[in-house]
Amino acid sequence: MTAPGPKRNSNLNTVSYWEKETYRGKKQKYKSHENFYYRGEIKIAGKEGGVQECKECKKLLPLSAFSTSGFRSDGAYFLKKLCRECHTIVQKEHRGARKKAPPKPERCDRCHLKKKLVVDHRHGTTEVRGWLCHDCNVGVGNLGDTLEGVLQGAIYLENDENKIIETLHKVFNEMFARAK
Ligand SMILES: [Zn+2]
Ligand SMILES: [Zn+2]
Repeated sequence: MTAPGPKRNSNLNTVSYWEKETYRGKKQKYKSHENFYYRGEIKIAGKEGGVQECKECKKLLPLSAFSTSGFRSDGAYFLKKLCRECHTIVQKEHRGARKKAPPKPERCDRCHLKKKLVVDHRHGTTEVRGWLCHDCNVGVGNLGDTLEGVLQGAIYLENDENKIIETLHKVFNEMFARAK
């Protein structure tokens, strides 16, 4: 007669927590959660000794050149997209622009919706362009924050030049009329 083997301990935690996490009932593996290191007491998302490109100066810099922003579900902090140096400069621009900004309007200067608004400034200066909601600010920024960038988006959507010009006049008049 063979002796029964050791009882399987059902509480034994052999599955990594990131493999157990569920999202809408679906089992998912959070491979990215294996990627972290410690900066002092703080858990940082990413590989120790890794590098990241600063979105502003485009330099490839060690992760230590970036400060933390929000954190993910395993408590590891993400790093900012701008290096500390660039972040400081941009924050200074923001502060300067906020001081010069006209009174906050009720509605976003682009979409004209009543939303939470932020001061939008011309990159590299403290010149105020206007007040935008978060979505419009991020949208314009993602298209390059320039007229050229936004027009590239327009030409991508519509390649008939006459239609673009016709729409330009219509939208221009609408926005100009509501600004009054
Ligand atoms: Zn930078
Ligand atoms: Zn908006």
